[in-house]
Amino acid sequence: MQKPTVKPKASPALRMAGRAWRLLHLDAVESRALADRALARAMQDSDLPGEAWARLVRGFHQLYFAAPGEAADELSLSLAVFEACQDRPGQLLATAGQARALWRSGRATEAMALLLPLRDEGLRLLRHEQRGVLLNAIAGCFSAQGRSDEAFAYMFEALRHAGPARGHGFDAALHCNLSHELMELGDHDQALEQIERGLARCEGMRNTRLESVLRINRVVVLTELGRAAEAMPDVQRLCDITASTTGRGTRALHFETLAIAALRAGETSLGAELLQQAQLLAPTMLPDERVELAVAQALHLHQQGQGPAALAALQAVQPWVAGATGADGAAGVRASAVAEQLASELHEALGDTVAALAALRRWQALMARRASLASQARYQAAALQTELIKLHHRLEETDVKRRATERARAEMALANLALSRKIEEVQALQAALREQATQDVLTGLFNRRHLNDTLPSMLALTLREKQPLAVVVVDLDHFKAVNDEHGHHGGDLLLAAFGRLLREQLRSSDQAYRYGGEEFCLLMPHTAAAAARTKVEQLLQRWRQEVFDLDTGHLQGMSFSAGVADTLQTTATPSQLLRAADELLLQAKRDGRNRVLAPG
Ligand code: GH3
Ligand code: MG
Ligand code: MG
Repeated sequence: MQKPTVKPKASPALRMAGRAWRLLHLDAVESRALADRALARAMQDSDLPGEAWARLVRGFHQLYFAAPGEAADELSLSLAVFEACQDRPGQLLATAGQARALWRSGRATEAMALLLPLRDEGLRLLRHEQRGVLLNAIAGCFSAQGRSDEAFAYMFEALRHAGPARGHGFDAALHCNLSHELMELGDHDQALEQIERGLARCEGMRNTRLESVLRINRVVVLTELGRAAEAMPDVQRLCDITASTTGRGTRALHFETLAIAALRAGETSLGAELLQQAQLLAPTMLPDERVELAVAQALHLHQQGQGPAALAALQAVQPWVAGATGADGAAGVRASAVAEQLASELHEALGDTVAALAALRRWQALMARRASLASQARYQAAALQTELIKLHHRLEETDVKRRATERARAEMALANLALSRKIEEVQALQAALREQATQDVLTGLFNRRHLNDTLPSMLALTLREKQPLAVVVVDLDHFKAVNDEHGHHGGDLLLAAFGRLLREQLRSSDQAYRYGGEEFCLLMPHTAAAAARTKVEQLLQRWRQEVFDLDTGHLQGMSFSAGVADTLQTTATPSQLLRAADELLLQAKRDGRNRVLAPG
């Protein structure tokens, strides 16, 4: 039996934060405004879940539009609040954001160590675009380490979970990231395809930043394909976006990339202008960006006829380019290849064919590495998919097992319930049976209850037959003394013996009842009091002759007293008959016991 999950109604702040989360990519400005309002409301209401989600959205917003440090602060606040309200999925998302902030500050290895162990749990707890966010954050870690093949595989998987139907625009960001990775792998056609899909998706969204990055990627691809002139409308559009918006954040500021395109397209003055803007941002640049900035500088100097200065500009970034291992702090394969290609061109222009050839060889090595990465990437994507599918199966299996155990437990509880109900029923039945029992266990005679049931009908029957009915009440004499001398057990033996005597000696039409402790009642139909008295006196004789050999000594010469009544003398109701016999019994006791008294 599945327990019904009680889902508490979302608070106002939580609902606002949820909307803000879904708008994160669709309308970044509105999303941020909503998240701010949600946070204010959550603080006012002391609403922890609302606060955690509002901060999460603000943190992700800052990841896209602010410095990674700011985002990291907001995300760690979000994480702390998620921990306080024990929201595990929220914690996973906040950690994914933190990892992104780490690799954006050049700490990809740390980010990976933080995030990768959470992958399987995340796949279990997160759904749709949230799953996509986690997988994409892992992809980002790989990408930042230059492991484009793995990055590609994770992005591909992220897109599978955060498709257009569920992605809330996050799918456009994934197309963008995928195009970036494909560019790294030198797969230009595929990259262009992802860019077109991303841009098409952006048309219905209000996210200029995402659109900017997609356009920049198109600029990069077209420039690398030697079609820089075709990239000029994008360059122009990007410049317009910059001019029309204030401050940082609305778009990615890859002026160095735009400068390279403009210079390669022969737009010298635009190139120089863009280069100048890029140089202003040099201190905050990542290795790839620095290398590209150097390429733009070198291109510009070369076009100004300053060959040696151009080469010097390139050599200044050689530490990032060399090897292009993709480790933390090194430039990626693509940026490095761009630099080596230009280095070769510059050496050749300066007449240094040996250096030109060496640069060309390094460029070739990078291109070979890119090609092998590209084929590895396809393999990685397939392998990851298999791995994740297996994981899903395992999760499903444990789910099925858990449900089976829950079912078994529920069945057992039901069985237990049924059993205890049965026991209660049986106990009630036993109690009812005890109530209804007609026999006295100790003496084997009928009990008083049965006397009450049978006396009226027996009386009615004998009256109808115009026959007398004798009623006798018998009480054993000095029975307390027997108990005192021989114990309760001895007393019981005596009672049982008296019962046996009555059963043996009475006619089958007579009935003997245990009336009370050591009191008995006899009903004798078709018998008048005098005859009954004779019969009972015979019983007294026999009783007096009984000898008992008990552990505590011999017992003999016991007596009883009895009173007899009959329907001939007494008004014929059961209680009057019994009372009449009882009164004579008391008289017998008073007269010295050991006797049977009858009327008349
Ligand atoms: P009396 O001659 O006046 O009738 O004296 P008595 O001792 O027989 O009468 P009394 O009413 O003083 O005491 C009756 C005793 O019978 C007391 C009680 O403990 C005992 N008795 C009643 N029922 C049972 C029983 O089921 N087993 C045993 N062992 N004793 C019983
Ligand atoms: Mg008595
Ligand atoms: Mg007695």
